This record gives sequence, C-alpha cells and structure tokens, in this order.
Amino acid sequence: MKFVGAHVSSSGGVDNAPLNAMEIGAKAFALFTKNQRQWVAKPLESKTIDKFVENLEKSGILPKHILPHDSYLINLGHPDKEQLEKSRHAFIDELQRCQLLGLDRLNFHPGSHLVKLSKKEPHYAQMLQEIEDSCLEVIADSMNRAIEATKNSSVKLVIENTAGQGSNLGYRFEHLAKLIELVEDKSRVGVCLDTCHTFTSGYDLRTREAYDATMDAFEKIVGFEYLMGMHINDSKPTLGSRVDRHHSLGEGEIGWDTFGFIMNDSRMDDIPLILETIDESLWAKEIRDLYHLIAK
Ligand SMILES: [Zn+2]
Ligand SMILES: [Zn+2]
Repeated sequence: MKFVGAHVSSSGGVDNAPLNAMEIGAKAFALFTKNQRQWVAKPLESKTIDKFVENLEKSGILPKHILPHDSYLINLGHPDKEQLEKSRHAFIDELQRCQLLGLDRLNFHPGSHLVKLSKKEPHYAQMLQEIEDSCLEVIADSMNRAIEATKNSSVKLVIENTAGQGSNLGYRFEHLAKLIELVEDKSRVGVCLDTCHTFTSGYDLRTREAYDATMDAFEKIVGFEYLMGMHINDSKPTLGSRVDRHHSLGEGEIGWDTFGFIMNDSRMDDIPLILETIDESLWAKEIRDLYHLIAK
C-alpha cells in the first residue's frame, strides 16, 4: 500500500500538522518540529505532545508514515569547528524532539563542504574528490556522535539525496552508501530519495527503461532496505543541471509517467511519499491524482 502526503505546516504548534494533513486527504506527512530558520527552539511542552498524539490518532496516520525534516541551518559537514559544533548540537535536539513526539525517523540533507574550487585548477577532479571524501567523513562522524548521544532512542537518521547544488553532498548514490558504511549502528540509518534531486543530479527517471536503470543502480549501490521515505516532486531544471527547484507534478521536466512508475512499484510500499511541490493549493488534487495512477 502507498502512503502519500505532503510537507504540511506546523505553524501555531506541531499538533496542527496532523490536522493539516487530514484536510488534504493525506495518508502520510512531513513537518518541521521547530521553526526551520532558527537555531534555538523552546522545548516541546507535554501538552503540545499530548495534543499531537491525540490529533494523530484522529487522522489515522501512523508514526512510520511521518517524515520530519530538520532545520535548513544545520550543516553536519561544516568546515568551521564552531559552526559544526552548533549544527551537531541542533541536530541532536531535532532527534530528541522526534523521539518525544513518538516519531521514528528524521530526514536531513547530508551537508556541504563550502569550498569554492575553480574548475581551472590543474588537479580539479582529484582535489574535489578529496574535499568531498573528507567532508563525508565529517558528516558520518556527526551522525555517529548524534546516535551515541541518543542511545536510548530508535529514531533513524534518514539521509536525503540532493541535487548537488553548490557544494552540497549527497548527489551521488555512492555518497549515501559511503555514509551508511561509515555509520557504526546501521539500525539507526536510512535514506530518502527526492525525485527532483535524483533527476537534477543526473539520474534519469522519465522512461520505463531509465527509471528501472536508476532504481537498479540505487539497489546495487545503496539497497532498498534503507529506503525510509521519498519526496515526490517534479523538477523545473533539466536532467543533470545540479539545481534544486521543485515543480508541481506534471508541470516540470519529469512528468506523470515517472510518478506512475513509483505508485506501481512495491519497493515504495509502506513508506511516507511526501509532496514538496510548489503550489500547496494543488496538494489535495496531487494526492488524489497519484492514487489514481495505481493500476487496478
Ligand atoms: Zn526533498
Ligand atoms: Zn529540493
């Protein structure tokens, strides 16, 4: 079975998120458990947590179909020691908030090395490789520390693949595999595939053949046992452009065929499939349209 929803607002309190999901007919949702543009948030109050659980029951949505997203400020691969410390601290707080809400996974972008390297550099490719490898090690170290700091918890750290914009890592399946390899407790790690990021980072999804080839590569390099969620977005930029700009389903470069392949792919059963498309007034319709793609 498929569980489709959207990244809904939690303004006014996280307890509003399940109600917002219900309103659009969602069977899954994503949310921020704090203001995503601020470093510090006040701790979750027990009455907010109770209300969240109560509203969740009302919605009928299960915790495993909820994919909380961490703050955009966090960079677990930050080259500056102080900034890295700040990110690590905030990330642990995010994991604890998920646990308090009874959620079992936290979606995050791996991080960026922030080095500006000129392509004219004589050893560009080799230098970039070294910078990326050492940044992946910093990110894995951040993940191991966060897991250690939340030992009593089972919240999974769900690494999202990225478009590879700027110096963001996670734009190759190999990056995800490397992080998993370096994380000591594999029971605490998962991945999230964003269709827009997959496409703009260079993996085609538009035809049956291209979709199968991309998913085969994912299976070989990462493995579907790690897939804990997907972001279902169309893309404004073209294949391999390394630019992260989402579009409404069917309006962008990817198109409906791909979303049909996903809705009929049993490897995407029982995980949150989350819209992060640009026009939220279309979400209810996009959810219905996605379900209609399931072959009878
Ligand atoms: Zn995403
Ligand atoms: Zn994106």
